[in-house]
Amino acid sequence: MSTERILFSRPHRAQRELVNLEAVLGSDHSHGDGPFTAAATAKLKAITEAPHALLTTSCTSALEMAGLLLELGPDDEVIVPSFAFTSTATSMALRGATCVFADIDPETGNLDPAAVARVVTARTKAVVVIHYGGVAADMAGLLELAAAHGFAVVEDNAHGLGGRWRGRPLGTLGTLGTLSFHDTKNVHCGEGGALLLSDEILMARAEIIREKGTDRARFLRGAVDKYSWQDIGSSYLPSELNAAVLDAQLDEFDLIQTGRHRVWHAYATALPEWARRNDIRLMTVPADREHTAHLYYLRAPSERRRDDLIRHLAGLGVSAPFHYVPLDSSPAGLKLGRTPVPCAHSAEFSATVLRLPLWPDLADEQVERVIDAVTAFTV
Ligand SMILES: *Cc1c(COP(=O)(O)O)cnc(C)c1O
Repeated sequence: MSTERILFSRPHRAQRELVNLEAVLGSDHSHGDGPFTAAATAKLKAITEAPHALLTTSCTSALEMAGLLLELGPDDEVIVPSFAFTSTATSMALRGATCVFADIDPETGNLDPAAVARVVTARTKAVVVIHYGGVAADMAGLLELAAAHGFAVVEDNAHGLGGRWRGRPLGTLGTLGTLSFHDTKNVHCGEGGALLLSDEILMARAEIIREKGTDRARFLRGAVDKYSWQDIGSSYLPSELNAAVLDAQLDEFDLIQTGRHRVWHAYATALPEWARRNDIRLMTVPADREHTAHLYYLRAPSERRRDDLIRHLAGLGVSAPFHYVPLDSSPAGLKLGRTPVPCAHSAEFSATVLRLPLWPDLADEQVERVIDAVTAFTV
């Protein structure tokens, strides 16, 4: 039996990556908004059914653009899940808004609409939601609250490209959606992201914000004869080199997803009996949601047992990390946010979760080794 360490995550290599990169480097045109930006954007629009998509330098940049487009300022509050990645909150805090942390649904790890309802105020301008592991949050509850209170919904859809909620693509359910193409995500270009939009007015402004506050996008379409400074903005447009890799990856999106779902399904099939005997909770997917196999996570009965399981797996050459220090208890969260209601589920989730290796090219023998290592652990 091989004892080679099994990595937690490994980026897929798409066939056309090098050919595409050669084409860009040979073209004397490697700044953004060239043919690969257009091709990759068209593919993203096809997958997400979004009326508009803009490639960005990261998901964090796309979230920053959301904060700019929503005109957040120091008088505003943005509700953010306590169990989230830092970018989800810091992109809003960057605009001076106060992050108000809300608890999660312990079943999915996603923002709980009931917890949102408890912390909404007249100053709530937006709610940012994550579809954790590519499993949609309870969007019915959140969209109902958004309609009742008039706040925007931003979907940090870093995990959810291709996922669906009640048949509708993730990233298009709220006001704005963001994607990540960091090399730990399902589809990657090293570092990259996208902003998904449906509103025409927001789209017109987003193009300008992304291009240093200029109307260069309109100029490139031939709609104006020169471009000039129009609005505040920054440099959120990725280079053609990134777009070239992303385009090659998107060509193989179905292959990537099939590979990831194969691994996810193997875990979901092999582990229930062991989980029952050892008081472990497995990842669940509510019936009205199609997930993206971004993660396969387990939840141990306690933090001590979770740490024991991580050590046990490490001893057998299997990497199984945990993540997300609750934002409300992190140093910046304490300084820049408020937590009106303690987020007990988030604290518990963070202390008990661990993630198993999951990447599209993980071989069946390696998946078997992970399963054998996991099921050799007993409480
Ligand atoms: C990875 C990730 C991000 C940040 O993505 P970048 O492209 O690295 O900026 C944001 N939110 C979530 C939930 C993520 O997993």
